[in-house]
Amino acid sequence: MEKNIVLLPGDGIGAEVTREARKILEYLAERYHFDLKIRVLPVGGASIDAHGVPLLDEVLHSCRQADAVLLGAVGGPKWDNHPPEIRPEKALLALRKELGLYNNLRPVRVLPPLRDASPLRPEVIEGVDLLVVRELTGGLYFGQPKGISVENGQETGVDTLRYSAPEIERIAIAAFRAARQRRQIVTSVDKANILASSQLWRKTVSRIGADYPDVELRHMLVDNCAMQLIRDPAQFDVILTENMFGDILSDEAAMLTGSIGMLPSASLGDGTAMYEPVHGSAPDIAGKDMANPLAAIASVALMFRYSFGHEQAAADIEAAILRVLEQGYRCADMSRQARQVLSTREMGDAVLKNTETC
Ligand code: NAD
Repeated sequence: MEKNIVLLPGDGIGAEVTREARKILEYLAERYHFDLKIRVLPVGGASIDAHGVPLLDEVLHSCRQADAVLLGAVGGPKWDNHPPEIRPEKALLALRKELGLYNNLRPVRVLPPLRDASPLRPEVIEGVDLLVVRELTGGLYFGQPKGISVENGQETGVDTLRYSAPEIERIAIAAFRAARQRRQIVTSVDKANILASSQLWRKTVSRIGADYPDVELRHMLVDNCAMQLIRDPAQFDVILTENMFGDILSDEAAMLTGSIGMLPSASLGDGTAMYEPVHGSAPDIAGKDMANPLAAIASVALMFRYSFGHEQAAADIEAAILRVLEQGYRCADMSRQARQVLSTREMGDAVLKNTETC
């Protein structure tokens, strides 16, 4: 079985964590007889430095042709003052839009060995196992008009929050289907008391929900959800929400697990899917071999699950990560209760070793 993967390491720790994820990917491809072809291509700041743009057309084309894309992270202070069109983050938005990746899945599980790693008390995070289903190609990040201009002599910044019913329908369907494989509760998060787009969101999600009578649908305002994630996170099964709310709430949810370095993601659409850790390029620790690669490695598990339909390989990775943590190994971001603090490379090796014996 041939699988063509495009690897986009990106910037900062992106290159370090995807290097470790690649080790596991290559090992499991061999074990399960995938004929793996990996093309490493530039994206974000690395692409700006090499080619003057954050995403080359050829790179986008290769992603479209691939069976899956694995991305590290983009961005960093070096490019912060670039004009909007040539900022690294532009590449991410373009990849999501052009590949039609409207369905962003962010699983958040508190693993037993990490019960004490979260800033929240262990009894608060006990049993947390939730999935954020974030709409990824609409809303405030894409709506037009957008930009900074001078209006009535005043500099003015404008972003547009726009959702059509079909955009809401397809992500709602994805959430209800996901809930059917889980504990059958969807909490749809919006700001329907203020925003027109949220009123349409709530109406549309309720209509779709009627087709899934076996799934309980709850509506929650985003400010309440931000609070409930800290107060009683175990109440959530699937959190369905729009683009910006999902961006913010999933970083908050990451801290339930102890570190943003633990959270993988899958971005799905109708074509090639993309897998990436939820975290950014972490310029403060880039190049120091201290980034936690587990989110990137867990993203490879999601690739096996969603793009290759290979549940066993996905389970192997997840079991290996759990074992490494049970053995007391941590990266610096979770070092408080570590038996031993590992570098990025050492953590990758530890997961590989445990995968080999899974
Ligand atoms: P960040 O996620 O890069 O870092 C936030 C904090 O978490 C930092 O203290 C960092 O050291 C720590 N951290 C993140 N990942 C870690 C890991 N794997 N191991 C250990 N510690 C980790 O967010 P930021 O600082 O807000 O953004 C930095 C840059 O990344 C910006 O340019 C931003 O635009 C970009 N960014 C990119 C993506 C992406 O590529 N998907 C996502 C978010 C931010």
